Amino acid sequence: MLLGKCIKCGREAEIRLRSPLVKFCREHYIEYVERKVRRVLEKYHMVKKNDLVLICVSGGKDSTSLLHIMHKLSRDMKFSIMGLTIMLSHEEFFKKAVNTAIENYRELGVDYVLVDPLKEYDINLDRLIEARIRRPLCSACGIIKRYIMNSVAIEVKATKVATGHNLDDLMKFLFVNFVSGDIEQLIRTAPISITERRGFVTKIKPLAECSEREMIEYAKAKGLKFIRAACPYKKLGMGDDALEFLNSLDERYPGLKINMFRIYMSKIHPALRSFYRIEEVSLRRCKICNMPSLGEICSFCKLRILVRESRA
Ligand code: SF4
Ligand code: ZN
Ligand code: ZN
Repeated sequence: MLLGKCIKCGREAEIRLRSPLVKFCREHYIEYVERKVRRVLEKYHMVKKNDLVLICVSGGKDSTSLLHIMHKLSRDMKFSIMGLTIMLSHEEFFKKAVNTAIENYRELGVDYVLVDPLKEYDINLDRLIEARIRRPLCSACGIIKRYIMNSVAIEVKATKVATGHNLDDLMKFLFVNFVSGDIEQLIRTAPISITERRGFVTKIKPLAECSEREMIEYAKAKGLKFIRAACPYKKLGMGDDALEFLNSLDERYPGLKINMFRIYMSKIHPALRSFYRIEEVSLRRCKICNMPSLGEICSFCKLRILVRESRA
């Protein structure tokens, strides 16, 4: 199917998107996405010269693309990168995903840390499933991932932690947190975290303005090796339905999704942040692991206790 001409060079276009309405040849599409990510890094002051950015790579398309883009931008923008991959389970899917991430690190010559939480903390998805904890699996998995990201960042002296969340992920989080009235999580749904002063390494989401579609096309255009299947434990929920609806609106009104996000970030987020001042909530140190925590014991240590007790 002919897609018309690349808007940059006039050659035959290979990639055509409806929102934003763009047509590019392969080479200019890659350039377009990388430039877009660079603009997000600059706009939200995500990185500065000499930063060490820990990139969390699961082996999926978003984090793998993020690794390649940040590797490229790190040379121009003069920051360093290191990879982090977490072996969340010993099931086949996760082993494949980890190997894919490692292949990408090796191809680019990027140093990386591989953490197996089962070995280091006696907890992983397999243990959580055996323990039949009441909390949804993805929420417990999030606690493990966030804890490891922060601990490794502190250990390797990384100044930022980057994750591959894209625009669609953020819109889904915004919707779910809005519907449940979870103001704190709503404020946390932003391209850059606001927790630096609270003992957490700053988290950044450089793909915050790139849609899922844009990232799929980027990974394909670059010919990246990534895991195509979704995590076997992923459960679709209300956020996914909301996103489907939003995407159908975005088809009819191109640019609607990104505009909503930008308006949220420029008008609503600052208002919520100055009204609720969540960054001023004082944190203690977890009395088990000494990491920052809201309560006496952090959620990660609580989860470990639950798993240990279930095996006793
Ligand atoms: Fe963890 Fe899989 Fe849920 Fe993602 S989908 S949070 S990897 S269990
Ligand atoms: Zn072109
Ligand atoms: Zn703890």
